[in-house]
Formats: sequence, C-alpha cells, structure tokens
Amino acid sequence: MSSWIHAEEIRQFEYCPRIIYYRRVMCYPSYTSKLMSMGKQFHLMRTTKKYSSKKDTKTLYDYYLQDETLKLSSYADMIRIRENEVRIVELKRFSNQSIQPRNGHILQAVFSSIIAEKIFNLPSFFIELRYWRGINSKMEITEKMKENVFLIIQNIRNMINDELIPEPTLHNRKCNVCEYWKVCMRV
Ligand code: SF4
Repeated sequence: MSSWIHAEEIRQFEYCPRIIYYRRVMCYPSYTSKLMSMGKQFHLMRTTKKYSSKKDTKTLYDYYLQDETLKLSSYADMIRIRENEVRIVELKRFSNQSIQPRNGHILQAVFSSIIAEKIFNLPSFFIELRYWRGINSKMEITEKMKENVFLIIQNIRNMINDELIPEPTLHNRKCNVCEYWKVCMRV
C-alpha cells in the first residue's frame, strides 16, 4: 500500500533525502530549531495578514488539501480561486539566493497545485512564491516540474519500502542547521 506523502516532505527531500529517512523510516522525532521557529513565526504573521483580492477572486488561507486517491496532502499558505484557474501562493521567509526561489519551494508549490486541481476541479497554470527577504516570483507550471514532483514522490515511497539510507546531501553547509546532525554526521 502506498504511503501518504505531505508537501513539506517534498521540500525536505529536496533539501536532503536523509531527513525523510530519519523521519519516516527511523521514526526519529524532529525538533524545532531556532531557524525553523523563526520561520513558523513569520508564517503566522504572513497568513494572519489578509491580502487584497480582486472581485473575481476567492482567497483561502492556510488551507488543508488532501487527495485520497494519490495519497497526497498539503497545507497551502494561500489559494487564489478564479472562474478558470486555481493558484497556489506560498509565503516564505527568505531564499538564500536573493535572485531566485529555492527549488524545494517550487516543488512544494507544484505538489500542492496538483492536489488543488483535483479538489477544485480547475486547472492550475502558475505558482507564486512570496519571500519576505527577496523576490516575489510568479512561475508557470511546466510538465517537467510535475514530472519532478512525481519522481520525488516515488523516490520517497521506495525509500520507505526499502528502508535504505540515502547518501548525504552533497552540500555540506546544509548540515550546519540540520536537526538530525547528531545522528547523521554524514556517515
Ligand atoms: S546532517 Fe546533513 S546529510 Fe545528515 S540528514 Fe542533515 S542535511 Fe542530510
């Protein structure tokens, strides 16, 4: 039977696959680092602020999306619904690259768009990523992006089934703020 996959796990897998291994296979508890805590506070601040909407647009905040068939779930920060389109808007604290969104954030938003299309029975053409520090970005959803999302979903499910630990991330600097550093140590 397929495992449920949450949007947050797509982002974490993109950051480092081992994090999902420790959570889903080893069932190690996760803890909230100072950086994550700041991110949560920022998220609360942004989602309690109501953004202006056009008359023909309905806006939902902090909305739970779930697809029983695909076994996918997500909390979308914001969903814009129009007559002919549903759009996911993700609110992020910052990107380490000030000129472009993080890949994990893009994949997370595309993942949520895939569920939203089914729930609202509307196509999703774009995602929006709004950063507090950095850029606001509107991106067209491509077939390649969707393929990448489904590939990651399959990779996570394979990892859970096979219980094989993945290689550490190639980017050592990510380990500096990783909640699993003490159990991992890149060994
Ligand atoms: S310490 Fe580094 S390699 Fe290990 S899980 Fe964290 S990010 Fe991945």
